[in-house]
Amino acid sequence: MARRLRQRDLVTKAGSSASSLRVRARMQRTPQRDTPCELALRSALRRLGLRYRLHWRLPGTRSHADVAFVRARLAVFVDGCFWHGCALHGTWPKHNAEWWRRKIEANKARDRRTDSTLHELGWRVLRFWEHDDMPHAAEAIVSELRDRSEQHSRSG
Ligand SMILES: [Zn+2]
Repeated sequence: MARRLRQRDLVTKAGSSASSLRVRARMQRTPQRDTPCELALRSALRRLGLRYRLHWRLPGTRSHADVAFVRARLAVFVDGCFWHGCALHGTWPKHNAEWWRRKIEANKARDRRTDSTLHELGWRVLRFWEHDDMPHAAEAIVSELRDRSEQHSRSG
């Protein structure tokens, strides 16, 4: 009888950790696409009449820009506060703390590698936080595009 109880206990524990494993697996698998802030940015860009590529695979990397202006070589990222370790809103889960810390640090390291690869290729990178005001972000993108096109016409 005691054995039975322990077994049931184990099942419960295994069940809960299996479900947290499933959550973890889903989070690892799911690219963070089409988040509410990305959608807000995209609609702000459309209102400004800008045309862009979505989820553009960046040359020489395995990363995708959330929004890319290929001719102007401008890559735009909207970084989630949790996934990219925002200093203001980033939280560090206590459960599986070590795993999460490595995951988030790895994301940040990959962001830096992506930025430097893009810079080497002559791309400009704009990164916004999920908590940023997206209409403002869209304006920053417009002025960056304007700068880029002026540079372009000056250089030839
Ligand atoms: Zn934040």
